[in-house]
Amino acid sequence: MRIVITGGAGFLGSHLCDRLLSLGNEVICLDNLSTGSVDNIAHLLGREDFRFYKHDVTEYIYIGQSIDAVMHFASPASPRDYLELPIQTLKVGALGTHKTIGLAKHAKARFLMASTSETYGDPLVNPQPETYWGNVNPIGLRGVYDEAKRFAEALIMAYHRYHGVDTRIARIFNTYGPRMRPHDGRVVSNFIVQALRGEPLTIYGAGDQTRSFCYVEDEIEGLVKLLMAPESEEIHLPVNIGNPHELTVLEIAEKVIELSGSTSRITFEPLPEDDPKVRRPDISRAMQLLNWTPNIKLEEGLSRTIDYFRSKLQVH
Ligand code: UDP
Repeated sequence: MRIVITGGAGFLGSHLCDRLLSLGNEVICLDNLSTGSVDNIAHLLGREDFRFYKHDVTEYIYIGQSIDAVMHFASPASPRDYLELPIQTLKVGALGTHKTIGLAKHAKARFLMASTSETYGDPLVNPQPETYWGNVNPIGLRGVYDEAKRFAEALIMAYHRYHGVDTRIARIFNTYGPRMRPHDGRVVSNFIVQALRGEPLTIYGAGDQTRSFCYVEDEIEGLVKLLMAPESEEIHLPVNIGNPHELTVLEIAEKVIELSGSTSRITFEPLPEDDPKVRRPDISRAMQLLNWTPNIKLEEGLSRTIDYFRSKLQVH
């Protein structure tokens, strides 16, 4: 297949490029490099089956070739980024999804969108099945991300129902692993960087809020399976892709300190506005539709990620 990946120089996007190329596909990577980095795809540049274009996908996209699939992964994804880039986040979720699904429709290509567990907001149901409509504050600081992704889901379902585009929506839960940026702002990268530098680990709030973390390799496997799954009525509805192993933020901090052998202590800082109190995916649909479950245990994934940051930051 020839596959367009927007946000292809980002954390998940670049891992997707790698995986899809290794499966024998051709990849066209688009990224405006606002939060992505050429470093993530430097090893792919120059390959015949890979092309990179620096492009902002809120602008018209022209690809002068046939395309089999479009994967829309462009967006700031760390709360720190989308709070700094609120309008760009809304634009890439809304206008960027419009441009990319327009491209898929024109090319008669399959379309997969990176949606998010944030569509559930601060959920009143735990774990979250795809049938849960969510609890989102549209005008809160996080609303720029949550509502952009919710609009994108609505647009995609409309293109599927009205234009018959073969669409897929992955609701991605917290994912971690190599190629997260040291200053990304998300909890796993923050804690690992702090632990390796011997700085205090900054817990926001009391640390009793929960998250469920999926190692990037498992996440990519689920996303590729969703893209490749044969068309059916069910496959067009959102699918949660995440790891249901739920733990508190305090437990994550303790795990990172233990696994990195750090002497860091823990400090407590104010909880950001609308920070979800719990989050855990119900992955029954992914198990049933894709025969997918995550395999990599937290300890293993964290150890690999700690090794990555050790060499990236050159600390021991
Ligand atoms: N968090 C924290 N310390 C940090 C960064 C994040 O305690 O240095 C908390 C944050 O308040 C949230 C959880 O960790 O409750 C996960 O935050 P992250 O930014 O990774 O993503 P989110 O799941 O909120 O989208």
